[in-house]
Amino acid sequence: MSDRPSWLPLPSAPVRRRAEALAPLQRERTAPSLATDGARARMIDALRRAGVRDLHVLEAMAQIPRHRFVDAALASRGYEDVALPIGHGQTISKPSTVARMIELAAEPLAPARRAAARVLEVGTGCGYQAAVLARVFGEAVSVERLRGLHEQARANLRAMRLPNLRLVFGDGNLGVPQAAPFDAIVVAAAGDSIPDALLEQMRIGARLVAPVGSVRQSLHLVERIERDRWQLTILDAVRFVPLRTGTV
Ligand code: SAH
Repeated sequence: MSDRPSWLPLPSAPVRRRAEALAPLQRERTAPSLATDGARARMIDALRRAGVRDLHVLEAMAQIPRHRFVDAALASRGYEDVALPIGHGQTISKPSTVARMIELAAEPLAPARRAAARVLEVGTGCGYQAAVLARVFGEAVSVERLRGLHEQARANLRAMRLPNLRLVFGDGNLGVPQAAPFDAIVVAAAGDSIPDALLEQMRIGARLVAPVGSVRQSLHLVERIERDRWQLTILDAVRFVPLRTGTV
């Protein structure tokens, strides 16, 4: 199978206005009441208590039904702050990790600039974080190396109508050059180092957030200061599935 990423856009849907993308929580509250609405609202309260401040991130996570991204048998645990299996030996990241990574990646972008900003996610998995990214950024591109999961994510996301999200099948170590440069990059799997292609595909001023390490992992925050200058800050200890090479 070719290592070259192939573009696999989601089926077209009516263009969603930016205002709608950032619609306040009320819209969710007036929707028909489901048991999951309460669980999701409690998840948001827990994220706030844990220190998540970014309103775009909180609003996006209040809108995306995380329970639909996990197996039906695990749906009742969809709003617990835990990583859950999604098949193919992979996991959906826990909500607090998703919130922290996106908050860090988006931080330098003033709210008004986010609508014009493009983010790359490496490791689509079931597509949950990709959906959140598509609600926070004007454009989101997410790459996955396992075809089975890439297709599962497409199926999970179909009903969500996120025309500004593109799913790519390919090796994320190579980034997605045809969509670069990116204003932010979020990596959802841990490698021994940050791939050069990703550093090169950052716009000047962009941030990249990635877990790095094998037995012990920590979250690395990279800022591209100038064309040839990147600044690294090492943050919390984390636990992610490994970043692999090639496609399967
Ligand atoms: N973003 C997901 C988490 C997925 S787990 C969420 O919303 O919770 C990490 C994913 O990274 C797995 O699906 C794994 O297959 C994928 N992955 C690992 N190495 C990769 C690579 N080199 N390129 C693209 N995806 C990769």
